Amino acid sequence: MTVFENLFEIRNDCPICLKSNPKILLSNNLSEPKFKKFIDDYYNHSVDERVIEKVKFELAQCLKCGFVWQRHILNKDLLYKLYSQWIDPRQSLFKHLKNQSRLIVLFGLSLQIKLMLFLINDIYQPKVLDYGCGWGKWCLMAQIAGCDVYAFDIVLSRRRFISSKGIKLFNWDDNNQIEFDFINIEQVLEHVPDPKTFLNEISSILKSGGIVTISVPKRLSKKQLKEVPAKNSVQPLEHINCFEPSNLEFLAKEADLEILKINSSILRLLKSFKLDNLSLAFYCVYFYFRTQRIYLRKK
Ligand SMILES: [Zn+2]
Repeated sequence: MTVFENLFEIRNDCPICLKSNPKILLSNNLSEPKFKKFIDDYYNHSVDERVIEKVKFELAQCLKCGFVWQRHILNKDLLYKLYSQWIDPRQSLFKHLKNQSRLIVLFGLSLQIKLMLFLINDIYQPKVLDYGCGWGKWCLMAQIAGCDVYAFDIVLSRRRFISSKGIKLFNWDDNNQIEFDFINIEQVLEHVPDPKTFLNEISSILKSGGIVTISVPKRLSKKQLKEVPAKNSVQPLEHINCFEPSNLEFLAKEADLEILKINSSILRLLKSFKLDNLSLAFYCVYFYFRTQRIYLRKK
């Protein structure tokens, strides 16, 4: 059997609260000209024609919790092909190398790491994991700050790259006994077929009192949901989950994680007028408006 025999899976039930019979908001064929053009342009004509012919772009909305998701998703093997081949690894690495030295990137990363250390009370050499690490810029900055860093990415070329930089690779078979002080999940959850199981698994490798941060693209308005295809929170093939804050809160509760009120942390920072603290407070506000981010603590 080839990976192209059963091209896609259908997610009928809400991936968050599991309720069935969603409302179908949109249903299009990827072979329709505007979708085909978007996919050809975005992936530089590397997506297999069989996928474009057979797979649909369908948006469903849960009538209970309001979650919006793509019903048709690529099978596991094709998802791997998408992230490891259709997204050209050389171009992706080139883009990363070009961007990584930008001052705004370095500054943003250093603030992210500083905020992490602040939230875990500056533990000595904390064990941290970047899940979905890409080319590893977060990991490298965490390593500079003295953390014991592990990284995971599904794409082999990225894992090899990270490993060549001296970062330890995490894998579920060998490392599921490790408990982390902090786990970073940056722009990952919108790509995951079963976000509920995923977050439960992440919670299982977090120390009691440990923190996980999740960031996902911002939720779209009803009008924006109709403006497809686009590089937005429901981008075809990739962004298969479109969260609003209540969906993330529901998943967190199910995974035994409590929401960390970042506002009170900012107030704590502002009590002392040190440059580090003021920069951090600025960073928290900036990222609040830029992405949808949540900090969760294991009970
Ligand atoms: Zn639901």
